[in-house]
Amino acid sequence: MKQIQRVVRNVPPHWVGDGFPVRSLFSYSEDAAEVSPFLLLDYAGPHEFAPTDRQLGVGEHPHRGFETVTIVYEGGVEHRDSTGSHGTIGPGDVQWMTAASGIVHAEFHSREFARTGGRFHMVQLWVNLPAKEKSSPPRYQEILDRQIPRVNLEQDAGTVRVIAGDWEGAAGPARTVTPLCVFDLRLNEGRDVIAPAPNGHTAILLVQHGRLTVNGESLAAGELAILDRAGHRVSLHCEDAAMVPMLTGEPIDEPVVGQGPFVMNTQDEIRQAIHDYRSGRMG
Ligand code: MN
Repeated sequence: MKQIQRVVRNVPPHWVGDGFPVRSLFSYSEDAAEVSPFLLLDYAGPHEFAPTDRQLGVGEHPHRGFETVTIVYEGGVEHRDSTGSHGTIGPGDVQWMTAASGIVHAEFHSREFARTGGRFHMVQLWVNLPAKEKSSPPRYQEILDRQIPRVNLEQDAGTVRVIAGDWEGAAGPARTVTPLCVFDLRLNEGRDVIAPAPNGHTAILLVQHGRLTVNGESLAAGELAILDRAGHRVSLHCEDAAMVPMLTGEPIDEPVVGQGPFVMNTQDEIRQAIHDYRSGRMG
């Protein structure tokens, strides 16, 4: 069994643009090796927005060297980027954007959500790319809720949405560059689940609602656990009906150097990225 290495709680929120009130529950800037191949997780916990005609979010900005994965739970997000991709996603849908050699995009609340207002709830995950893939062309995958397989857990323990990777034979639709899994667990009160998490891989759990015991340690809503790489399973006990995004991934054993929207392997590559963006040669 993988044991808990660290629990993240009580992280202060900050705003990304004027649309995304997030808590950065982990970041490569603190301990890149611990969370590799993941770089950052911004959790926009449930937040009420009043109806508005304004466009809330973040205007045009670049990314290079990694992927952004946006999972919407409540509300809606609209995206447009320099590859010509444009999409609006709602509850349960996922945008998987591989910035790689460079992309310029904008992220906003969807027009429909802005007009009606209400609860907004979202995760944005940054996934690193190995050095040899950082110069690949960018690409964009829109994954709708109905394309995501659901696995019913034994003994009425709940369900798992398989966004990426494999849960006991059910494969998620996301194309990933390195081996990794993204699951959404919905667990029923009082039930136990043994979750697969390959030996040697990083594993991370976020509790969105409810209460969960992970190998004996109790986690409340908004808390995140980073597990040891050793061990090939995680033991979960659901104390209170819980929604739990779970990530596992093979670590990328390369230097991580980042600045703002760029994550590369060396300081020279960061300087190059800034130069390329400023001179209009990105996206
Ligand atoms: Mn972005």
